[in-house]
Amino acid sequence: MNIYADRGNLIMLERRCEWRGIGFEVSSAGLGDTLDPDGADLYYIGGGQDRDQKLCAHDLAERKRDDVHGAAARGAVILAVCGGYQLLGHSYELGTETLPGVGLVDLHTVRSEESRLIGNVAIEVELEASPPGSRRVLAGFENHGGRTFLGDAQPLGRVLKGHGNNGGDGREGVRAGNVIGTYLHGPLLPKNAWFADWLIETALGLREPLDRLDDAFEDAAHAEARRAAGL
Ligand code: GLN
Repeated sequence: MNIYADRGNLIMLERRCEWRGIGFEVSSAGLGDTLDPDGADLYYIGGGQDRDQKLCAHDLAERKRDDVHGAAARGAVILAVCGGYQLLGHSYELGTETLPGVGLVDLHTVRSEESRLIGNVAIEVELEASPPGSRRVLAGFENHGGRTFLGDAQPLGRVLKGHGNNGGDGREGVRAGNVIGTYLHGPLLPKNAWFADWLIETALGLREPLDRLDDAFEDAAHAEARRAAGL
């Protein structure tokens, strides 16, 4: 699934690697394809409408499940956005149908009959960054009918503005080691260059932060996204 600016997110990672002389190669695994659990430093699972999710869920849960678990077990970064995030968990209930997830993190999602949770969103996250323990803001856009509930799992962040996982508990996304799920889609990474760099550093196991880039445009996009969310 890749309809919510997912390619833009990948281009962001590609450019920021290229600008620093870090090799970057992207390959895709579509319906029916197998996934190489040792083949990448970062695995990206994009979002999609319920209809697309129905097509992907069984393929992901049956054909790719073990390899997604294998990639996570060796510490690869897994970034799953929106519909992809929902499928990281145990299940996604849509009326009488229940789609399976890959069961990588303890969460489940239920499609609500109430309004979709749509709008600009900002969350506060705490990631190992320099300085350690510092809190950063991720700003973006969410659009989901599903409500996600975490079991024994930590959220990616705390909702500052917007709805988050279910519009009720103030939690957004999930974080389990290098496995990250979030409802923030649209151009998540172009609006949050610092997070793109954190993903690259983590995926490559770098001990030192990446060289700084001239982020005037990226910083402006981030500031605008924060403003749009009302921060
Ligand atoms: N189909 C899911 C929902 O509406 C995910 C939507 C998305 O990926 N934006 O909850």
